[in-house]
Amino acid sequence: MSTPASLSKPALSAVTRLDALAGTHAEWGPWLSVVREVTAELSDTVWDAHPPHTVAHTGPSPQLAAAVLQPDGPSVKRLLDRLRAVARAQNLVGLAGPASLAPVTSVEEALEVFLAAVNDDDAALDRQAARVGATPEGWRALTQLLPMPYLHACARRWTAGPHTTWSQGFCPVCGAWPAFAEMRGIERARHLRCGRCGAGWRMPVLACTYCGTTDHDALGALVVDDKTARWSVDVCHVCSGYLKSFTTLQPTPSNEILVTDLASVEFDLVALERGFLRPHTHAVALSASLAAAADPEPPPAPKRWWS
Ligand SMILES: [Zn+2]
Ligand SMILES: [Zn+2]
Repeated sequence: MSTPASLSKPALSAVTRLDALAGTHAEWGPWLSVVREVTAELSDTVWDAHPPHTVAHTGPSPQLAAAVLQPDGPSVKRLLDRLRAVARAQNLVGLAGPASLAPVTSVEEALEVFLAAVNDDDAALDRQAARVGATPEGWRALTQLLPMPYLHACARRWTAGPHTTWSQGFCPVCGAWPAFAEMRGIERARHLRCGRCGAGWRMPVLACTYCGTTDHDALGALVVDDKTARWSVDVCHVCSGYLKSFTTLQPTPSNEILVTDLASVEFDLVALERGFLRPHTHAVALSASLAAAADPEPPPAPKRWWS
């Protein structure tokens, strides 16, 4: 697979890791080709130009709950068309729909898809899937990628700005459950990482990400026999949730969280075989909206013929 020369260095690293993963898991190749399209965009600051309008929350709500998002419509359309074209080229017609049916989207349609994906609006996503001839599951898998560059831009803004301490298991920006935990540095501080927007936040070691229990007897870890292994799986016997965890000196670059999550799938299998689960849905439905399109330029005032 060739790498476009225009990719920035951080994007190059993430894409190179994806390509290496495709080399070792040939059966994942078609899906990784689709993921590759969005991975190249995740660190592109062009998505930072239209930040969301957020609202104040009284309780522990993610920043984008009830926010007004204003992604650049033509960029969203371009990305959706690219994702669908790559999926079709890989014969993933269930994800993209056949080329004969709605081969490209309008800006308005693309923004509808974007919003339905952000808000986990299954009814809207199912209607769109029927319109383009994709399967409901396939369309959901494809469209979850569409808002990610914008959500990464929102997380960059959140990370750079002032914010209060966050102690929930779900993402403080987009409300998703974390992809994995990092045990960082010499002191092994536990940081959770969001696979949807790339945000990271501290969480106590002895607390379940999902149900919040701090009962020592209910919390455990599945560790592999190799004592030098960096990975383990945190499990909770109250809610049967699991979370992959690994030791690292440096945080995972935001645009590599997806590939690190995919590359560690063997630990998901270990947890699933033992009856533990990772939620398939996001923790919080965002109920976000889109900013109305800017009003068109007012027409020039008519010339007064008498002056
Ligand atoms: Zn997030
Ligand atoms: Zn739990």
